[in-house]
Amino acid sequence: MAAIAIIGDGPGGLSAALFIARAGHDVTVYGADETVMHYAFLNNYLGIDAISGTDFQSSARQQVLNAGATISEERVTAVAIVGEGIEVATESDTATADFVVLGEGKQMPLANSLGIQTNEGDDEVVPVDRNGKTAIERVYVVGRSARPTRSQAIISAGDGAAAALDILSQIEGKDVQDWDSPPKD
Ligand SMILES: Cc1cc2nc3c(=O)[nH]c(=O)nc-3n(C[C@H](O)[C@H](O)[C@H](O)COP(=O)(O)OP(=O)(O)OC[C@H]3O[C@@H](n4cnc5c(N)ncnc54)[C@H](O)[C@@H]3O)c2cc1C
Repeated sequence: MAAIAIIGDGPGGLSAALFIARAGHDVTVYGADETVMHYAFLNNYLGIDAISGTDFQSSARQQVLNAGATISEERVTAVAIVGEGIEVATESDTATADFVVLGEGKQMPLANSLGIQTNEGDDEVVPVDRNGKTAIERVYVVGRSARPTRSQAIISAGDGAAAALDILSQIEGKDVQDWDSPPKD
């Protein structure tokens, strides 16, 4: 079982957490439910007619908990690469993760502290691949952090899902999909 730290509890971080927790790994999401989603009312999230950002977050947090993830309300103060691990520090504790997903939102001080910078010459995107993978081994950036000028909940959730499947594929050493079928009566 791998340990995955997800920093940020908006749609990006929670979506990554859902997929990875469903696969049975040790997932900790950091965030105190202070996302800007609480200012949003979604009429553009495919498959949901209309929902307040607050109701969306409440449902998403519960779904992630039901899948087996832990949500810590502590703020992450530092992330550091230490040998093969990635240390994630809060004011009260330091944990070591195998993979880190950064979904910090508009500001990204932790990503910046690792040398991950917005590339202003390229539509202000952070240099990540299509799965949110950065140049730093086992560190991903998803959601609004990765493309600040394209901030939509469904994009963040999609980014989180893509990062999660990439992490699961790395762990398994083969491509992983998370597919379910309807129960047979
Ligand atoms: C007024 C308004 C209306 C909007 N309306 C819509 C809309 O109608 N439809 C739509 O699709 N989108 C809308 N959006 C945009 C939508 O809210 C964002 O696209 C979405 O929240 C981005 O999700 P995210 O997960 O990338 O980041 P965020 O939602 O910003 O989540 C980041 C989270 O990480 C946490 N965090 C950051 N650093 C740390 C740390 N060090 N430790 C612990 N936690 C940390 C933050 O507290 C936050 O909870 C709206 C936004 C605003 C402001």
